[in-house]
Amino acid sequence: MHELAMVRGIYDVICEQIKGHKVTRVMQVRIVAGALTGVEDMTMKLCFEMYVQRTPLQGAELVIRRVPVKVQCRICGNVYETGIPFAACTVCGNKKMKILSGDELYIDSLEVE
Ligand SMILES: [Zn+2]
Repeated sequence: MHELAMVRGIYDVICEQIKGHKVTRVMQVRIVAGALTGVEDMTMKLCFEMYVQRTPLQGAELVIRRVPVKVQCRICGNVYETGIPFAACTVCGNKKMKILSGDELYIDSLEVE
């Protein structure tokens, strides 16, 4: 499963970050997921919940912030947001575009005790 691999990656990063700090509990994990990652909120949260059982992250709340896909038209340079499938350029109507953002997945912040 796609989400499980992502959860594993996030988990490893968090463990690395809290290592060496006096953290007894992780309350909240806020992540940013671009629309292109295909992350589904419910699946991701469920995976996370199961994966962190019996770890220091048990009970932590996962908050997912979505970022839209931003592309730039290769013909006229127009930058616009689009859904999936990609919309044609809002200025010139072309469908040749470069992806600027939307494929990112990273930890925004942690709330720890
Ligand atoms: Zn254009």
